[in-house]
Amino acid sequence: MHIHSTPKWLHRWLSGFTWHKPTDRKVLYLTFDDGPISMTEWILDVLKDYDAKATFFCVGENIMRNPHIFCRTLAEGHAVGNHTHNHLSGWKSSLKHYLANTALCCATMQKYGAVCRLFRPPYGRITARQATALRQQYELIMWDVLTCDYSPRIRPQDCLQNSIAATQKGSIVVFHDNKKADVNIRYALPRYLAHFADLGFTFECL
Ligand SMILES: [Zn+2]
Repeated sequence: MHIHSTPKWLHRWLSGFTWHKPTDRKVLYLTFDDGPISMTEWILDVLKDYDAKATFFCVGENIMRNPHIFCRTLAEGHAVGNHTHNHLSGWKSSLKHYLANTALCCATMQKYGAVCRLFRPPYGRITARQATALRQQYELIMWDVLTCDYSPRIRPQDCLQNSIAATQKGSIVVFHDNKKADVNIRYALPRYLAHFADLGFTFECL
């Protein structure tokens, strides 16, 4: 079974993280983790079709491999966030190593003119001390809708329908620009955008 929405008790327990943006407006915050890779260019094309802006949580080493895609993301008006340089799990990293790796990603982002103000921990795994330290510089962004697009055990149709069912006004929605998500995101993303655009929603950066 795939859990697509994070429980309310978790939001209260982990206050100090942003899980969604409370609002009465019909607005959604799409986020894409782990790029930039070649697939990111397809995502940018799809977003353009719907006049949608989104937030990309980038891995520093992928920015170094694909700086032109990172620059295109910025040039098209999307926001970018820090997702560590090497996609580290906070639970398996010392405080010092985790902060140094995050700083390396930030330096790479700044080299291409981006601002380091948003952070999302890979796997959602971060210790209290790591979070406290990073909060000095960053808004720590989690999510309330997990599309599970990376899972090989979910059908693309279910990825789409479960994500639609879990979405509310102000939701922060996680997709992935990584190879594991390829089949599901190519099915779900355009249909998800079409569904909510038809209902009068807009899609904005964090
Ligand atoms: Zn990630």
